[in-house]
Amino acid sequence: MRLDLTDLRATFAGRLLEDADAVAPFLTDWRRKWTGRALAVAQPDTAEGVAAVLRWCHANRVAVVPQGGNTGLSGGATPAVEGRSLVLSTARLQRIRALDPVGQTITVEAGVTLQQVQDAARHAGRLFPLSLAAQGTCTIGGNLATNAGGVQVLRYGNARELCLGLEVVTAEGELWNGLRPLRKDNTGYALRDLYIGSEGTLGVITAAVLKLFPLPAAQVVAFVAVPSPAAALALLSLAQQRLAADLTAFELVSETCLQLVEQHVDAARRPLAEPSPWYVLLEVSSAQGESAASEAIEALLAVALEAGHASDAALSASVAQFRSLWALREDISESQGAEGPTIKHDIALPITRIPDFIDRTDAALARHFPGLRLVVFGHLGDGNLHYNVSPPAGGMAKADFLALEAPINRLVHDAVDAAGGSISAEHGLGVLRRDEAARYKSAVEQRLMQAIKQALDPLNLMNPGKLLSAPDTIPHHASET
Ligand code: FAD
Repeated sequence: MRLDLTDLRATFAGRLLEDADAVAPFLTDWRRKWTGRALAVAQPDTAEGVAAVLRWCHANRVAVVPQGGNTGLSGGATPAVEGRSLVLSTARLQRIRALDPVGQTITVEAGVTLQQVQDAARHAGRLFPLSLAAQGTCTIGGNLATNAGGVQVLRYGNARELCLGLEVVTAEGELWNGLRPLRKDNTGYALRDLYIGSEGTLGVITAAVLKLFPLPAAQVVAFVAVPSPAAALALLSLAQQRLAADLTAFELVSETCLQLVEQHVDAARRPLAEPSPWYVLLEVSSAQGESAASEAIEALLAVALEAGHASDAALSASVAQFRSLWALREDISESQGAEGPTIKHDIALPITRIPDFIDRTDAALARHFPGLRLVVFGHLGDGNLHYNVSPPAGGMAKADFLALEAPINRLVHDAVDAAGGSISAEHGLGVLRRDEAARYKSAVEQRLMQAIKQALDPLNLMNPGKLLSAPDTIPHHASET
């Protein structure tokens, strides 16, 4: 039976999309892996409007799927196929409420994009360091709900570490104002930290107070050839010692990744004459200016070359070179996607175990699934690898490749677990990793998580079937890109 939305239309001042064409973009995720259905899409333009929607949903026992930029990679923002839930889009929560350059904080509503926050901070001579390839579209609400990471976690931390306070609408539709710009606040349970990383399953984040930092005077990047992941780790240790807090990114890239980017991105140019099995992209930010940053990197590289941790390197000497070296790293996902279907693993490991993990897992995959290509890259500096798999270079039927997804996931994730790692470093669980996470979490941890869900959302109306199991609400598996 179709629910009567008349009350909802009348009770909040925002926009309610009901027309099939208007609703369609909210029903499929970024990777086009899941498609669901929804009663409607509500787009409130104030926190009070969000509260009105959630009160209506609570009274009518209607499930709510919060959605920001819809760039999430785990299916968390896609409604289930039954079509009984309401999508709550934060697209119209668009205000930057305050910016305090001395206190180094910015207060923004949930639907402001990450790029807009970065730009507002830069305009005030400050840095908001969260940075990821979807920043033009993803929202601060989504970044916090997934505890997003990106390329500067090594120096500044992930979204959780960049957030001081939150404003949240609870599952019952109450507005909690926790927008405190405090760096110290020991007054009981950290409710903020329950909502961060909860993927819309506990409440709707409507605004946040975020930390800002001084803008660095200069940033220089080096693209360094290294013989192995073990050598990359030795270079990381050396860089941490010599550059300390000026080291702002340390990314690992395999030769396979570089070849894919060369093949699919017209503007991509190899920065080094000779190929190498692995590369590191390292970024230095300096308050002392460009020549100080370049000199620090050159001194580091001289020691690394001498010790055999590196064999060659190219340094950026202009903004254009800085961008084109970074593009070699940022264009990997898209280039891999251009080759056909992919099996992705967003894993975290204790940093020192990464070389051994790569050796053993590469060998096990080659033994059990010969011919597949490994596309391995990631944020080595914070122990986060994107350990991805592509079909053989000669091609493979899509259905045959996707049939391997479950056994490959099992092999990779068992290896991650054995190494003391995590099967989701920064993309969250959504529906993609929900059931697998249950395999690797202890009974105690699962019970505590269920108890929090029960306490904050007793009717299970907030994004049901995401993060925690509820098998009858799994979205439809549409297609893999
Ligand atoms: P959505 O996709 O809309 O939602 C994601 C989850 O958050 C869903 O569960 C949703 O219900 C919930 N949610 C959204 N808004 C709210 C809210 N206001 N209150 C409560 N719950 C909410 N991620 C990284 O961590 N690091 C990367 O380097 C990275 N790179 C990416 C590159 C590309 C090209 C793409 C497409 C994605 C990448 N991602 C990365 C993943 C994605 O961008 C992040 O997860 C981002 O934080 C999601 O923000 P969003 O606004 O798009 O959220």
